[in-house]
Amino acid sequence: MKLIYEKSVKGRIGFSIPEDSFDEISVDIPEYAKPHKEYDLPEVSEPDVVRHFTKLSKLNYGVDDGLYPLGSCTMKYNPKINEKLANLDNFLYAHPFAPERYVQGSLQIMFELGELLNEITGMDKFSMMPAAGAHGELTGVLMIRKYFESKGKPRHKMIIPDSAHGTNPASSAMAGFRVVEVKSNERGGVDISELEKIMDEDTAGLMLTNPNTVGLFDENILKIADIVHSKGGLLYYDGANLNALLGIVRPGDAGFDVLHLNLHKTFSTPHGGGGPGAGVVGAKKELIEFLPSPIVCKNEKGYFFEFPKNSIGRVRAFYGNFSVLVKAYAWILSMGPQGLREAAETSIINANYVLAKLKDYYKPAYDRTCMHECVLTGKEYKKYGVKTLDISKRLMDYGFHPPTIYFPHFEPYAEETIMIEPPESESKETLDSFIKAMIKISKEARTKPELLKEAPHSTPVGRLDEVKAVKNPKLHY
Ligand SMILES: *Cc1c(COP(=O)(O)O)cnc(C)c1O
Repeated sequence: MKLIYEKSVKGRIGFSIPEDSFDEISVDIPEYAKPHKEYDLPEVSEPDVVRHFTKLSKLNYGVDDGLYPLGSCTMKYNPKINEKLANLDNFLYAHPFAPERYVQGSLQIMFELGELLNEITGMDKFSMMPAAGAHGELTGVLMIRKYFESKGKPRHKMIIPDSAHGTNPASSAMAGFRVVEVKSNERGGVDISELEKIMDEDTAGLMLTNPNTVGLFDENILKIADIVHSKGGLLYYDGANLNALLGIVRPGDAGFDVLHLNLHKTFSTPHGGGGPGAGVVGAKKELIEFLPSPIVCKNEKGYFFEFPKNSIGRVRAFYGNFSVLVKAYAWILSMGPQGLREAAETSIINANYVLAKLKDYYKPAYDRTCMHECVLTGKEYKKYGVKTLDISKRLMDYGFHPPTIYFPHFEPYAEETIMIEPPESESKETLDSFIKAMIKISKEARTKPELLKEAPHSTPVGRLDEVKAVKNPKLHY
């Protein structure tokens, strides 16, 4: 496909209006604003533009095209109505410097969203400021650091399970903690006896995802909380994916002290493309004073900004990605408590359905019921020279986005892993056609391995040299 610049024809324009409609006026364009030869805009007609961008949009694959089973990512369909609501003029044009009294409605949404999230998670107060999950983690661990500093007893270590999302150790290290790894047991949960050994009074706490990043619920969570709390530590909950818990379990009840949620995964904001997101952070009572400031509060006169006394300060400009907050608020209210619970139950049933139907073809990494995502492996196809990478590439020929692969990557449980998350918005028919494709691919792996190794065959570009594609992207072909 040509670039739009290559479709440019000197003098071609995108509109036609009678020449005598307007009087000619002359304007002095300052030097810096004059078009530069190199940056000339393409000269194209309106249909040229429409067709160019329509063609480009068809080269891509998104959640509006079909199943996007990317584990640990919750690529679900988000109702378009929530986009419309976030785009209402009063939200869209609210100025971040507007005095509180002129934006009471916007503040009310932030406040009430916080209250709804408190109810969903069992926390006491939310900051809407962080712009992504990893940003929420950094915010949360900085709060933990300040909590110990304010007691005059700084702590220096943070425990992180080997199954954790890579952002957890990164956030801890950025906040100045030394990361200590705790191994998983054969059921995919935290190894309790090892945790008991490493938890000490220089350890600020433990960052945990539950269900963890392999889609398994750690049944020892109360025990884990006990071990950490008994040494004065705090529990951080990585709630990036809340899909399995909505209306079923509240992290606050399980002993977590501070958490973040990815509104852009679970709560109706499309993602995967770099934002905007919202990694909102919730704190239990003892930690509210450390939340980033300002936070939205309410008194008899209305809504106002408050600056928590021991706040870690600002973590970004203004108050967060407001449009994401509006979408989350609208989604929660439109689902209702029962609807949220059904969403969680459906996502868990979907993942277990896929697991049950595929386990004879792709050996599961763990032999147990999963939560909202399941981990299979492609290890038995290695003897045919087929890797998990080839299996996922071949899925594209059947019209599906590939799942997350080679994650989790810790041995001995994980080898050639395929992590599938079929969210609640997917119908049984969609799941069945995905399952059918996966089974067909498992047969092809035995009989026609070459077909897989050269896949995809049906996409605008075929198999890429992935290392080269990252280092030397060719955005034009
Ligand atoms: C996605 C994810 C994150 C990171 O969220 P970002 O918004 O991409 O920064 C952190 N933890 C888990 C478990 C995740 O799935």
